[in-house]
Amino acid sequence: MSRKIEILEQVQEVMPEEKSVKKVKIDSVEDLPGVGPATAEKLKESGFDSLLSLAVASPGELVEAGGITEATARKVIKAARDTMNMGFESGDELLERRKNILKISTGSKSFDALLGGGFEAGGITECFGEFGSSKTQIAHQLAVNTQLPKERGGAEGVCIYIDTEGAFRPERIKQMSEHQGLDPIQTLKNIKVARAFNSDHQMLLVEKVEDLIKNEGLNVKLVVVDSLMSHFRADFSGRGQLADRQQKLNKHMHTLQKLATAYNLVVYVTNQVMAKPDTFFGDPTAAIGGHIVGHNSQTRIYLRKGKKGTRVAKLIDSPHLPDGEAIFNIEETGVKDV
Ligand code: ADP
Ligand code: MG
Repeated sequence: MSRKIEILEQVQEVMPEEKSVKKVKIDSVEDLPGVGPATAEKLKESGFDSLLSLAVASPGELVEAGGITEATARKVIKAARDTMNMGFESGDELLERRKNILKISTGSKSFDALLGGGFEAGGITECFGEFGSSKTQIAHQLAVNTQLPKERGGAEGVCIYIDTEGAFRPERIKQMSEHQGLDPIQTLKNIKVARAFNSDHQMLLVEKVEDLIKNEGLNVKLVVVDSLMSHFRADFSGRGQLADRQQKLNKHMHTLQKLATAYNLVVYVTNQVMAKPDTFFGDPTAAIGGHIVGHNSQTRIYLRKGKKGTRVAKLIDSPHLPDGEAIFNIEETGVKDV
């Protein structure tokens, strides 16, 4: 009798080990060790719905999202990483891939040329400049051009427009779309506008964009935040609030960046600088938001008014494009070459 129990215990001890030694093929979140159906559900609800999302997560995030211990979280991350083909790409493959990167045309050949073809998907592009420098006009133009076919510099995609200043004008979209030969009503339908009332609301709206893509199947190719900093500046104006502001802003920029990369879309943010920046900032090309915005925007463009009503775009510290300027016009028909 006692021997039988002993044997049983031995078997029970051996069983789990044997189970873990046996290679289980991991195809989805549920297949990961330590992840039961309930945990998988919780993780998915928090956006950890793919092996990749788990492979790049931090243990703390998974503890919070899945209600699991840190040790389990580490195991889950490791197992997810083991399934990844973290292969390196050779330079020529990268070059080939970069050639195929989606770019949305601005409507001006010279502005497009400055940007190597247009506003680039997969990253954040920031335009900063003083009031009237055409930041919002460019947002409207991109919202229309995103809907053009690829041959004409578009992506046949939808635009999400987060408006913090009440500057979105459907009439202007109508005007621009007519000049592009697009149906104005259809064009307006493909622009989803949300007015953000404060910085938290703005952050929440951006976090909801993923829902629209995943659950409502919207082919979002452009996300506009016009303007990025106005609420952050107003909501965190007190002394000693700068650190808080930068922390939130950093999170906001990361959400935008993740959207850009995960869904291969263009993120366009605008940023206002004061009329006499030299007096306030020392550097006329330093936008509000400081290094957090600067470091998170892959492409930064300084906009100003030029001669005879023209606008001038100047590329600032681009990692892969030569410095330069483009001159263009804002006409009734939209953004045009001079
Ligand atoms: P910002 O967002 O940088 O403050 P805007 O994009 O609002 O600047 O630029 C406003 C400018 O755009 C106006 O001063 C005007 O020159 C031009 N603009 C706006 N609407 C039209 C239009 N329908 N036709 C021609 N130009 C326009
Ligand atoms: Mg504006």
